[in-house]
Amino acid sequence: MINEKVADIMNQQIVHELYSAYLYLAMSAYFESINLKGAAHWMRCQAQEEEIHAMLFYKHVVDRMGKVILGKIDAPPAVWQSPLEVFVEANKHEQKVTALINNIAKVAQQEADFASNTLLQWFTNEQIEEEAQTDEVAQQLKLVGDNSSALLLLDQKLATRIFAYPATLQGVVQGQGQAA
Ligand code: MG
Repeated sequence: MINEKVADIMNQQIVHELYSAYLYLAMSAYFESINLKGAAHWMRCQAQEEEIHAMLFYKHVVDRMGKVILGKIDAPPAVWQSPLEVFVEANKHEQKVTALINNIAKVAQQEADFASNTLLQWFTNEQIEEEAQTDEVAQQLKLVGDNSSALLLLDQKLATRIFAYPATLQGVVQGQGQAA
């Protein structure tokens, strides 16, 4: 049986993760609007990952006989000034998510909820990757500057991202692609 405080904060995190998916879908739509199809694809992959993040918390609460209570998801922004701004904002967003995950880990520790350890450790590692990936593209976009050829080349690279279902999560959400 899950501790009530831990279940509450995980329910809130389900909403945060779904907002992340919504935000990245909005960013994908922005890239579609300026014909950067590779970046649009990259952001759609990112949105799919966020849905899985939400489902991991969802399943954890369900498996431990907690009650899933879903909250309201805010609307994301629709307009950005440049591709660079999008990735800078994505990176800032991931830093906020990292702080949220850290807080869940803190609450779980305070409540001696050791059964959450594995899940929260996975999220802690995942956030290192999320911050690094968004920062890498932001830094590359800074190098690109106003060079259209370089931007199109980077867009081609972003188009190659493959949405991979992490091997450790196999069976968590059924029917969601192949193991990485
Ligand atoms: Mg996430």
